[in-house]
Amino acid sequence: MRCFVFFGIQGSGKGTQADLLGDSLKFQHVSIGDLFREQISLKTKLGLQVSEIISRGELVPDELVFDIIDQSLHPDRKGIIFDGFPRTLAQAEFLVKHFKVRQVFFLELSEAKAIARISSRRICRDCGQNYNLVSDPPSEVNVCDACGGKLIIRNDDKPEAISRRLAEFYEQTLALKDFFAERGLLSEVDAGQEIEAVAKDIREIVASLPAE
Ligand code: AMP
Repeated sequence: MRCFVFFGIQGSGKGTQADLLGDSLKFQHVSIGDLFREQISLKTKLGLQVSEIISRGELVPDELVFDIIDQSLHPDRKGIIFDGFPRTLAQAEFLVKHFKVRQVFFLELSEAKAIARISSRRICRDCGQNYNLVSDPPSEVNVCDACGGKLIIRNDDKPEAISRRLAEFYEQTLALKDFFAERGLLSEVDAGQEIEAVAKDIREIVASLPAE
């Protein structure tokens, strides 16, 4: 099964860009963070297992990540857009073993800009829709456009969890740039631009890929 991958520092816009590319290619968008948050709000066994880990800003163990991917893939999908996976070397090895990776997009953003974006991020308490108060605000202050729910700050977007998540990014995830570059699969994209400019860069890279 073919896939594209988005990775980058927290706040680099992985979810937004993965959504846009998923819509244009009609590929399934798989956000591991969203899948875990859904399990937490449904209070499933897995949700209870990962809830504390995620609030602390730590990475969930690889085996649980592999399980949730396995459970969430649609049987009739044309392809997959992974957002927030892989985040460790073991996950990257799992990815190349089980999927045909077309291209990996590293969304490049400075830490200062990342922190500024994360602090304006909000999520709907009821349906999980994401907002950014600067680039993608709701029509009514603190109210979800989709379901009318209240917008809140994610537990793991609070300061202590953010510093833990940034540390995980530098310690574990950044090394994946070399892993994918060595395999000729890496494209670096300037994620400090407007959403549409980033999306355009990504579409151009996709259009320039050799036929499968
Ligand atoms: P995100 O919404 O992508 O920022 O993910 C939120 C949280 O979910 C992360 O801080 C981790 O605790 C967990 N998570 C998401 N993706 C992964 C992954 N690939 N490996 C381990 N933990 C993950």
